[in-house]
Amino acid sequence: MYADRIARVRTRMEDLGVDVLLLSTGADLPWLTGYEALETERLTMLVLPREGDATLVVPRLEAARVEEQPDAFSIRAWDETDDPVADVAKLAGAPATAAIGDHTWARFLIELQRVLPRTAFRKGSEVTAPLRMVKDAAEVEALRAAARAVDGIVGEMRARPFGGRTETDVHRELVQRMVDAGHERANFAIVGSGPNGASPHHEAGSRTIEPGDVVVCDFGGSMRHYCSDITRLFVVGEPSEEIRDTYTVLADAQDKAVHAATVGTPCEEVDATARRIIADAGFGDRFIHRTGHGIGVETHEDPYIVSGNTAPLAPGNAFSVEPGIYLPGRFGLRVEDIVVATPDGPERLNQAPRDLAVVE
Ligand code: ZN
Ligand code: ZN
Ligand code: ZN
Repeated sequence: MYADRIARVRTRMEDLGVDVLLLSTGADLPWLTGYEALETERLTMLVLPREGDATLVVPRLEAARVEEQPDAFSIRAWDETDDPVADVAKLAGAPATAAIGDHTWARFLIELQRVLPRTAFRKGSEVTAPLRMVKDAAEVEALRAAARAVDGIVGEMRARPFGGRTETDVHRELVQRMVDAGHERANFAIVGSGPNGASPHHEAGSRTIEPGDVVVCDFGGSMRHYCSDITRLFVVGEPSEEIRDTYTVLADAQDKAVHAATVGTPCEEVDATARRIIADAGFGDRFIHRTGHGIGVETHEDPYIVSGNTAPLAPGNAFSVEPGIYLPGRFGLRVEDIVVATPDGPERLNQAPRDLAVVE
């Protein structure tokens, strides 16, 4: 699997005229090798020349974390008194053009530029993004498993009380449940109750959830490196007529946008499908973000479901469809599923009920 990805990366490097790919912290490295570099001041870097052997330069004390992959790369452990930047430069061999992972710490790039003054640096994503955007069968299966895990959490939350609890308390429960359901980490858990739901990226706080509140729960984590991301709505007691009517518009927009996400459809057309329905109902200026984002080893990656992205959906593209309607000072609504474009039509990975879940 990894050997195949490395082969595809090399083909793309050839097309772009990139001599060496340098990957450190960020999602490209685990996507390509299964190993994720620690976010520390000690440099970890894969040196992948277009031709020749790949080497992972790694601190000696972290080398035991790396699984040896003779057909993909060898390991070069460095000691505390060594200069890993010099090691990388030597392995890279004075390249004319290097691509470096977008999430590499700036200090390492600046140090590399100093020792490789004649090398032109480009963004690693120019090499990897178009490849990562098309998921293979193993990746779709990993996304499906992560989606199933958060679907299960939605099912459990529908039977839980919300009224009288703080947002932080619900946030903690979501984080714990993600880990219990097999995620190696929880990446985020937005809990926006009542008026706080009108802020799409609201951070869970000390507000106590009250009767009549809509609670926007948007949460996700990483499971075997692949991300989950789901948004569902919970209402404490029977929803008001206004909440129900607004929800009906949103649910229709979300459903139609999912069905519009067929292979060959431009990404921006999926966005426009949701936006037209919401605008026709008079909420055009209350839908204040794009309809979705690609998802894989990162929660947000290509392709973005946004006006201006004319790229047609391809089989294997995985992305969210998450329109929202936000009424400042009152409430917010958003529903989100992860969808994969397939030759047989859009496949929704999330199957948890999308209705307004009435809770205590
Ligand atoms: Zn978001
Ligand atoms: Zn989300
Ligand atoms: Zn999302």
